[in-house]
Amino acid sequence: MDAAQTTKRKRSGSPLAAEGKKQHAADPAAAGATGGEDANAEGSADAGGAEAIEEPLPLKKKMGRKAKRDERSYNCPYLDTIKRHVLDFDFEKLCSVTMSNQNVYACLVCGKYFQGRGLDTQANTHSLMCDHHVFLNLETLKFYCLPDNYEIIDTSLEDITYYLQPSFSKEIVASIDKGTSISRALDGTAYIPGVVGVNNIKANDYVNVVLQILCRVTPFRNFFLDERNVSGVKDPLVLSFGELIRKLCSPRNFKNHVSPHEFLQAVTNASKRRFKIIEQSDPLDLLSWLLDTLHRKLKKKKRVVHDTFKGTVKISKRKLPPTDQKDLVADDDPEYQEQESESQFLILPLDVPPPPLFGDGLDHNIIPQVPLFELLNKFDGVNEKEYKTHKDLFVKKFRLKSLPDYLIVHVSRFTKNNFYTEKNPTIVNFPIKNLILRDYLELADDDPSLFRYDLVANVVHEGKPGAGEGNYFAQVYHKGVNKWFQTQDLHVDEILPETITLATSYIQVWERQPEPEVTDAPAPETAPAAADAPMDATPAPVAAAE
Ligand SMILES: [Zn+2]
Repeated sequence: MDAAQTTKRKRSGSPLAAEGKKQHAADPAAAGATGGEDANAEGSADAGGAEAIEEPLPLKKKMGRKAKRDERSYNCPYLDTIKRHVLDFDFEKLCSVTMSNQNVYACLVCGKYFQGRGLDTQANTHSLMCDHHVFLNLETLKFYCLPDNYEIIDTSLEDITYYLQPSFSKEIVASIDKGTSISRALDGTAYIPGVVGVNNIKANDYVNVVLQILCRVTPFRNFFLDERNVSGVKDPLVLSFGELIRKLCSPRNFKNHVSPHEFLQAVTNASKRRFKIIEQSDPLDLLSWLLDTLHRKLKKKKRVVHDTFKGTVKISKRKLPPTDQKDLVADDDPEYQEQESESQFLILPLDVPPPPLFGDGLDHNIIPQVPLFELLNKFDGVNEKEYKTHKDLFVKKFRLKSLPDYLIVHVSRFTKNNFYTEKNPTIVNFPIKNLILRDYLELADDDPSLFRYDLVANVVHEGKPGAGEGNYFAQVYHKGVNKWFQTQDLHVDEILPETITLATSYIQVWERQPEPEVTDAPAPETAPAAADAPMDATPAPVAAAE
């Protein structure tokens, strides 16, 4: 085998190739095998190699107590055989032969994964059979030259480890939403870190939109950008989610898109195959399951999910007497008194009124529209909504008690029964900036908070309802570049904000603006007036005070 390596080294044509040969010279078998006719070629290369070896003198000081420095590590002749464009670290880190996930190496020449690097291992055999020599251990992030089996130490490989495992310093994390920098993939295509295409492997558009909208939630995303926040967590769902978020935000990707393969695998396993790659599901179900699962798995560490998304709603519930007994029930009958309870939510559901029934000669192509405020009236604490159980009838009233910094709203437009899913096509009209929710909250009289929100992400369903029928895409706002983008799997296109309200919005993410600073001269009475002020008045607190 040594002979084979030596021959290959010569073929590489690198002047450093001789360095490898020098090592083998000590091995009589290798020396014998290389033989006379090769001697000249190697001899000429030797000079260059010798220079390279003698140069780093300072390290000699350490030699007394440390193992002799392997000069091959610093002069590997195969670095220029690496093909960065074939590298793809988005897939499960399994050996392509044994399917094991232990001790897996990526061949940096063809991109395939192989196990082991010692004699007779898959990676070792691959290097001999295919003449591929540079490998990366996907766990330790160390590079090796096989079959010689020495570590390669070279700063020029740092982009590969970063591509595999992007990392973000506190400063970079803090600057992400402010940055306007455009990155370039290896093929020269431009992309904005954090708003990149996500591969649709089979039917995972419903996963991709969830990833895109969560990337726009600053504190939640930033939590996962800093690996230290999940140090010690061994759960594959948490780890693969964090890894994917970091890849989505990496400024140094080789490609302008990312494959969510490992994360999907973790979702499929953790959900016991409720969510699959090959079958479209509802992004709302996934989002709800994901937030809940991440919260449970992270609970011991952090409460980032609840800190970011949790709100509280007060529910007043009253049982109605059966119609035929209405007159028989006393007014103070305890069974029919109003009961109050509180409920936490991570996603606020909004009901869309049923579309008007046509058949009266009206144009069937008219799509009904409804203002978002009308849907929010569900939470005014006055409107009663009827609920039926199999034997009882209830009315409920809702009032928001607290709202999170990031409010996820769900427009309930799908109704499922045993046979099919129906979609309510009603378009919800909403302002994308300065949505004031103060009126739906139970606040202290002297609390001037406006609860003013801006839209940062919007999931749209297009086409027919039912698994595999229509498709989902996400519209997302990037603060740094102050632009809206529509992301549909691999495609990312800039859009005009005006187009957002025309789509059949399904899930929305709203970001709360900082409350205007309370001045020394408080003017609580003027605060409600601000709710009626023009939506785009930027210095709102000042305008409100006038
Ligand atoms: Zn290879």
